[in-house]
Amino acid sequence: MTDSLLAAFPDLSPLLTPPINYILVGILGAIIGSFLNVVIHRVPLDESIVFPNSRCPNCSAVIAFYDNVPVLSYLLLGGRCRDCKTRISPRYPAVELLTALLFVAVTWQTGLSFALPFDLIFVSALVALIFIDAEHMILPNVITYPGIVFAVVARLAIPFLTGNPHFDDLPMLMNGLFAGWPIWAASLGGAALGALIGGGSLWLMGWTWEKLRGIEAMGLGDVKMMFMVGAYLGWRLTILTIFMGVFSGSVIGVVVMMVQGRRDLKMYLPFGIFLGIGAIASLLIGRQIVDWYAGQFR
Ligand SMILES: [Zn+2]
Repeated sequence: MTDSLLAAFPDLSPLLTPPINYILVGILGAIIGSFLNVVIHRVPLDESIVFPNSRCPNCSAVIAFYDNVPVLSYLLLGGRCRDCKTRISPRYPAVELLTALLFVAVTWQTGLSFALPFDLIFVSALVALIFIDAEHMILPNVITYPGIVFAVVARLAIPFLTGNPHFDDLPMLMNGLFAGWPIWAASLGGAALGALIGGGSLWLMGWTWEKLRGIEAMGLGDVKMMFMVGAYLGWRLTILTIFMGVFSGSVIGVVVMMVQGRRDLKMYLPFGIFLGIGAIASLLIGRQIVDWYAGQFR
């Protein structure tokens, strides 16, 4: 095979030099963020994410396209519905702005490449899961199941079509555990390993907690989400994700308990939020963190 099956495509990179690429990708992020708002609002309610048009939750007025421009419309309308003047949740512009910033950060990290759309979809799914878990304390199967399939497709497609390892664990695996395997097979092996570590450790944590305290501490949603994260990020960044999730979740949990004056540990934390934030951080700067940490022992 040639160095890249994608060499036949026209090279657009001269048109997309900084800062134009970051501006375009930021605008795309804000638009995707607007779509994620619909997903976050409707998926837990089992509503279609395509139909009908967005309406004001208070007066049911259909929101016109010019009042649906990401971030800007919220600012121009002063955070209120044009018809009934009810306050619009600041979550809407916040998700749009956050997604725009994450898209820029991912592009800065990944660069303009075949892998970029995959990384952007991965981050988008995590943003939706984080905000749904925060509001409803669920991680819906309609996102996690396709997410697992998506991760496997990405693990196969990116190395197979570009010859580029892209995934953090792949160069290591090809020199070790899966030496001699074709790159796509090693990538799939890495996905299985990551999923097993991600989903498996979450399942084990939940099981242990249940045996110790006799209560269900972790929903299977967390396990499925970590199957997806593990398959995509590989074993190294998955361990980092879990570490960051457990650490930040524990700190926040203790703070919340102190504020509420509770000490019984029976409260349920939407752990998916912390795992999701950990996964995004791992995608963006995980490699640097792991390398820095490993460097401390040399
Ligand atoms: Zn209204």
